[in-house]
Order: sequence, then structure tokens, then C-alpha cells
Amino acid sequence: MTIALKFGGSSLADISQIQKAVEIVRGNPERKYVVVSAPGKRSPADMKMTDIFYHWHEAESAGRSCRALRKRIFRRYADIVRGFGLYFDVGRELNEVEEALKAGASRDFMASRGEYLMAKIFALILDYEFVDAAHCIRFDKDGKCNWNLSFDLTYKALIDLGDQGAVIPGFYGADINGKDIVTFSRGGSDVTGAIVARAVMAKLYENWTDVDGLYCADPTVVKNPLLLASATYAEVRELSYMGAKVVHPMAMYPVARAGIPTRICNTNNPKSPGTLITSGGDVQSRSRGVAGVAGRAGFAAVRVERALMNEELGDAHTVLGILLKHRVRFDHSPGGIDTMSYVIDQHDMSDTLAKTIVDEIREQCMADDVRLDRGIAMIAIVGEGMVNRIGMSRDVYAALAAAGINVRIQNQGSSELNILVGVNETDYERAIQAIYNACIAPVV
Ligand code: ASP
Repeated sequence: MTIALKFGGSSLADISQIQKAVEIVRGNPERKYVVVSAPGKRSPADMKMTDIFYHWHEAESAGRSCRALRKRIFRRYADIVRGFGLYFDVGRELNEVEEALKAGASRDFMASRGEYLMAKIFALILDYEFVDAAHCIRFDKDGKCNWNLSFDLTYKALIDLGDQGAVIPGFYGADINGKDIVTFSRGGSDVTGAIVARAVMAKLYENWTDVDGLYCADPTVVKNPLLLASATYAEVRELSYMGAKVVHPMAMYPVARAGIPTRICNTNNPKSPGTLITSGGDVQSRSRGVAGVAGRAGFAAVRVERALMNEELGDAHTVLGILLKHRVRFDHSPGGIDTMSYVIDQHDMSDTLAKTIVDEIREQCMADDVRLDRGIAMIAIVGEGMVNRIGMSRDVYAALAAAGINVRIQNQGSSELNILVGVNETDYERAIQAIYNACIAPVV
């Protein structure tokens, strides 16, 4: 039985952090497949290696000097190599990166080099095999991960190694032809780790980060929130999608499908039990059935109104057709009989595109009014244990009302997995605090 594990950037930020990661791997011979991020920040003012690589690409494209950036990258890796007494020619590796860049290498290629170099160095430290993610993970033409092909290729690449452990760089793979490098969105090494775990059918996927696990609310918004001992894949997917930063929202997909237990662990506190994520979780033991509350600002709602809208067929179809044509995703769609609204992440839509969409909807739906309501923060109260609990919504809305917060959008699916509310962005933090205190905080 094997364990697949992933170390985030903060676990690999410098020699002492890497040493902790090495001890963790060596602490259990089942820890055979290790996915690494690029070195992260050593202090709040520091820069993540991935960002320095992005800057390098930007500088080259703009014809600016890249020397200082290259030097910065060189120093960080060279320090690690020296600290562990390895023979690894960082300069030669960076020459290759530079040549590729001069020959027109993409932004994704550059970003991927942070993980690529870290994985090569970590493999040397552990005496594990380096396996390039470009040979394992594939993205379709639309930039989406081709899961099945990635599971197959990863399985083949790792199984050939027999008993030998492997280090695989996170965050990237290649296009469908295996030619050009493509990355996941930021934080995507979590997804690589989950793919590796699924490919080898690991008994456990450990996601090593710098916090003790998944908190019931963002600790920068709520003081000392409860830590979740367990959660379900669905809960973690919802919470991470809505803004909980511990794990990438796509990371649950591979492990959930195969039922691979996943643990969020702290490299700086390896004895802490962390958060265990499974299909069942211990949802009933939570006092209110709530796993957590998460949210983020930056949403807009496209609101469409027309008298007697419910008498006609096809309005929603028309609006969705327009969104599809412009490749804009919507997250929620609450509405009434003569009004519909589609909640959209504003990052997915420029101002010009928003105007085009509004104009097209007005014309094609012959709407009385079409508006874009901006400045909305969406908040999800998530928990599989909320099903059939009477009074959950009452508590959420009562808490918001008591805090003087207006609810602009509300939604709950029949699965009762979550209650969604949209509030003004300016009320976001107070709303999270009010909901946490009313629905999650222990009663004293
Ligand atoms: N290094 C990448 C980032 O900074 C990916 C990762 O760390 O998971 O987003």
C-alpha cells in the first residue's frame, strides 16, 4: 500500500522547510509518490518562485533585462543545492530555460519551471526518481485536464518504477499531443497530487501545507475558528470553490471518484491529526451539521426582467445560449416568475463583454430591463449534516439581520448541502463573522 503526498510552496520555501519535508517522507516508507510545488514565500514580503518565473517571461516579452530575475532564481535554488550538499547544475538548467524562452517558450512553460527544478532537486535529496509531469498529465485543446488519459499515463510512468519512489512536479502537464506545457490554475499542485493518488490507487493522499487543516472559516476573518477534524469531498469542494484557500477546488475530483481518503496536514506541525476528507466524514457529530462557511467578493448578477416572463418558453435558454456563446460561466441562478438572475464571477467577464451580453439579452429576450448588479460577495454555508435540520436558514438570516446586513441573493439546492447568500462586498467580513457565530461557533 502506498501513500501519495504533496508539499505546497511554504513547505519547500527554504532549507529548513525542505528538511522538514524530507523527514516526513522518510518517516514512513509507504510515502512513495511525492508531488512538489515550487518554493513559496519565506516571509510575507518575499515572492513565490512561480511569480518570479512569470515576471521573467513578462520582462523577456517586453524586451526588458531579465538578469536580476534570473539571478534571484539562481540564488534560491543554488542555496538549496548547496545546503543539501548535492551536485546539481542550477546554472545549466537556467541556461536551458533561457534558450527556450528566447525561442518563444510560453508563459505556462516558464511558470512550470519552478516546480520542475524543485522536483529534480527534491528527487536527488530523497534518492527518488524524477518523473516529469509533462509525460503524465494531459490537457485537452480547451485547456481542461483530460482526467482519464492523465490517470493512465501517470499510472504507466509510476508503475514501471517498481519499488522505487518518485518525485513529480506539480501544477503542470502537457497539451494533448504531449508537446507544449500547460498549467492548472494557481495552486494546481494539489490537483497533480490527487491525480497521482488516483493513478496509483494510493491508500491515502496527504496534502502537506502550513496550517493544521481545514478551518470552519477563514482565520483572517474569524478569530480562532474551529478546525475540522473531518469533512466530505463534497463539502471541501464547495468550501474551496467558494474561497477556502487550503486546497484547490479541483483537487477533490480524482480522489472522490476513487474514494481515496485525503488528509490535510501541517509540515510545521506533523503530529497534528489534520483534517481527514472522505466520502462520509463525521458529519453527524457536528453540533449543527455545518462543516464551514466560506465566500468571496467579486461577483456580479445579470438580472433580466419582463412582465409575464413565466408565460413564455425559452427565455432561460436564450440567456444561457448568449453566455455559452461568450464562454461565460454562471455559478447560481436564483429568480422569480418574471425575473431571472445569473450570478457570474466578475473575473470571467470584462466590462466590454458585460455590456455586449446585457445588450444581446435585452434584444433577444425582448426584456423590459436587463442589468448587471455588481459588487456582490457570495457566501456559502456548507455541511452535509444540514439536511433535514429545521431552522438552519432561519439562523443564517437572523444572524445577518441582527448584524444589519441586507441579503441581495439567496439560494439553496434540494440536496441541502449548502445555503448560499449574496451580500454587498462591503458587508462580506461582517457577514462571515455573524454566520460563523450563529451557526458554527461552540455555545459557551
Ligand atoms: N506554484 C504554483 C502556484 O504558485 C502552483 C502550486 O503551488 O500549487 O500557484
